[in-house]
Amino acid sequence: MTRAHFSTCPLCEACCGLRVETEGRRVVSIRGDKDDPLSQGHVCPKAMALQDLHEDPDRLRHPMRRRGSSWEPIPWADALDEATEGLHRVQRKHGRDAVGIYLGNPNAHNLGAMLFGPLLLRTLGTRNRYSATSVDQLPHMAASYHMFGHQLLFPVPDLDRCDLFLIVGANPLASGGSIMTAPGMRRRLREIQQRGRVVVVDPRRTETAAAASEHLFVRPGTDAFFLLALVHVIAREGLANLGRLEPFTTGARALFAAAEPFGPERAAVVTGIDAAVIERLARELAMTPRAAVYGRVGACTQRFGGLNAWLINALNLITNHFDRPGGVMFPTPAVDVLSAAKGFGIGRGHMGRWRSRIRGLPEFGGELPAVAMAEEIVEPGEGRIRALLTQAGNPVLSVPNGAKLDEALGSLEFMVSVDFYLNETTRHAHLILPPVSPLERDHYDLIFHAVAVRNTTKFSPAVFPKPAGAKHDWEILLGLIARLEALRHGPLSRAALQARALLAVGPRLLLDAGLRLGPYGKGFAGFKPGGPAGKLSLATLLRQPHGVDLGPLVPAMPERLPKEHPHIDLAPQAFLRDLARLAASEDEPGPKEHGLLLIGRRQLRSNNSWMHNAPRLMSGRERCTLLMHPSDAATRGIHTGASVTITSRVGRATVRAEVSDEVMPGVVSLPHGFGHDRPGVRLRVARQHAGASFNDLADPELYDELTGTAAVNGVPVEVELSPSCSPSQQRSPIDP
Ligand code: SF4
Repeated sequence: MTRAHFSTCPLCEACCGLRVETEGRRVVSIRGDKDDPLSQGHVCPKAMALQDLHEDPDRLRHPMRRRGSSWEPIPWADALDEATEGLHRVQRKHGRDAVGIYLGNPNAHNLGAMLFGPLLLRTLGTRNRYSATSVDQLPHMAASYHMFGHQLLFPVPDLDRCDLFLIVGANPLASGGSIMTAPGMRRRLREIQQRGRVVVVDPRRTETAAAASEHLFVRPGTDAFFLLALVHVIAREGLANLGRLEPFTTGARALFAAAEPFGPERAAVVTGIDAAVIERLARELAMTPRAAVYGRVGACTQRFGGLNAWLINALNLITNHFDRPGGVMFPTPAVDVLSAAKGFGIGRGHMGRWRSRIRGLPEFGGELPAVAMAEEIVEPGEGRIRALLTQAGNPVLSVPNGAKLDEALGSLEFMVSVDFYLNETTRHAHLILPPVSPLERDHYDLIFHAVAVRNTTKFSPAVFPKPAGAKHDWEILLGLIARLEALRHGPLSRAALQARALLAVGPRLLLDAGLRLGPYGKGFAGFKPGGPAGKLSLATLLRQPHGVDLGPLVPAMPERLPKEHPHIDLAPQAFLRDLARLAASEDEPGPKEHGLLLIGRRQLRSNNSWMHNAPRLMSGRERCTLLMHPSDAATRGIHTGASVTITSRVGRATVRAEVSDEVMPGVVSLPHGFGHDRPGVRLRVARQHAGASFNDLADPELYDELTGTAAVNGVPVEVELSPSCSPSQQRSPIDP
């Protein structure tokens, strides 16, 4: 008998509502849920790949132990015991920091991992913590921390009421929106254009740029000059207006003084954007009552990502587009993330309390930059990483100089991975502990409701029950914690018993508490006639399988500011100081001397590397190609389809060229997450579309010195016709 389930897609930040039809344990169909209040029926092709993922014969369903180069299934109890003993042994021998941990971005979409992951971090107590944060959104967190006093206070464009949307280094039509949960982006952008304009600033004419009202090419890594020039013009022409935020906003004068030397003429030389265009945009931004500036991965993952995140916030503030309908606003999620973060010991954030051992890079919020990971494993000395725990991450493909990290992982004394694939990273593990598939676990977005363009909430029970003998992520994490505490303090110790008690509690009870204690727990009005109203709890959500609409975003300032930081700082010292580094970058050799600058490319059918094992996402044309401008191709004798070799300071890769004026001259673009031809990887579909890994080219010496974020956009490379016609990857000499 066919059964319909209403669920939520966990594959990207858009959080689309799904209608999943099943027969027994088989998926019959996956479609958009038109009654979901946020996504209103929208889905992208990745949603259907949930079926591929669920049925994937390569997906691990039992714990695996490596013996040399072969793998054997082992019982859960043995796997958890061995994993714990391995981690405990290394910490006892070499100290707490000898165990490193890397968390991949799927954890942010996983209720159990979000709730219990911090507990495992606390239990391990290592300073060698890494995650996808420092190859993605860390500059936004640093800007939020310094300006608003909390690393998780993200202003979100109020897309549905905005009339001018200025996008810098983001491609929401391909990504579905990031730190801006907004399913159905094409419709939302079209509606903005019906009311006003969408302007995109990007070195590539992305899908979003192609659909925008105006697109401006910008040289990779120079966005900060463009943003400063906007501030400069707004200040110079007396257009700044802080509106009702003025009484609790400081630093406007310091910001304007800092922007004074960075005028539009100077920006034009560096960025390639005409000074008159910058002036026009500055005026348009200041004079449009409902406007928002937004930037994401392209703006973040470059050498001045921190400055960009700061300046984007600053522009919204000084044009009176902050905390106002149609500008950028703070959502009011049903589970208050700030209180929850406090409860889990995450807190407002901190920066530079300790530094990485080899390069002295600053921690942020307890994490070190991922660009430091390989050297922290390889280089001898006190505090060196000797064992690693990875959770839903594939840093070999997602961290700069992946080839070096690949080699480094092979030197570890012990490694354990919580992951359901034997991939480029987990192939080095001694043990792999695979959790259930996304369709076999409950879903609630703790993070993404807090960055959504509309206040909604939704709990999705698992589509399928957990198979016999399988474990949820949170059961694995708590199993490790309980055993570690038992090894350290005895099986009847308080910490060990607490972990066992949490195993009995599980995520549902904690979520229910979070909902009851949240802003709608004491009561909420039905937003639509006939819609639900009452006190929000898990029981309420279980009765509303499509989710609950809690209404449009509402002004939240100054109440939302933490009491320890009751003001907005427009000019934090850390950012002001970093302007000297930006100014000095003008004297560095430009793109001509460098040859070409490599940037990334988000694709609709890909998000994480493991999606490359979904047959329906990999069908069709080859996607791991190098985009190159016709003028750059002509000088090198390169044509579309030619096999080309890309060389950077740290590595080399071979792919096919795609000649197109989609990228600006001097810029080449390669998607992330490919490079699946390493030996021992069990991703059969992905191997047929191996491509080359962007991160074998990305240079760990290129990073934002302010935040430690990897600068994967703007990597100097040279490209030449390859002697080989085969688009297989050619590794750097450091590859084993
Ligand atoms: S846009 Fe994102 S959330 Fe929506 S269906 Fe696609 S992958 Fe899933």
